[in-house]
Amino acid sequence: MTEPQHDPNCIFCKIIAGQIPSKKVYEDEHVFAFHDIHPWAPVHFLLVPKLHIPSMAQTGPEQQALLGHMMVLAPKLAQEQGCEPYPEGGFRIVVNTGTHGGQEVHHLHMHVIGGPRPWLKG
Ligand code: AMP
Ligand code: ZN
Repeated sequence: MTEPQHDPNCIFCKIIAGQIPSKKVYEDEHVFAFHDIHPWAPVHFLLVPKLHIPSMAQTGPEQQALLGHMMVLAPKLAQEQGCEPYPEGGFRIVVNTGTHGGQEVHHLHMHVIGGPRPWLKG
């Protein structure tokens, strides 16, 4: 089974394609990062694969390298975006998955959230 590479109805696919504007944080061959439109905290951006993968529930061994790339990239981007160093600073990575997981946009994304508290949520 192969997932479609892009979903024409997906808002994040449209952001990646530049069809919907976003405040870009980072881009490479495999991933795209942009500021969340409703930030919970001083730093709040989303890191997404360029391929349309609906959620973490659809990942398997073929996504290991991609997911590893995203996990290793997130702390670097967090620091670039103003998160203070560990342990006093730091950040939160959230991957909402499915309805019970609170997922609203069905294109896999990591929320990277940080900066001085208080935050709007959490
Ligand atoms: P989730 O509930 O994990 O699916 O989160 C989806 C996130 O996407 C929410 O935090 C929204 O604020 C964010 N979002 C939705 N549309 C946009 C957009 N056009 N640009 C940036 N962020 C968006
Ligand atoms: Zn998509």
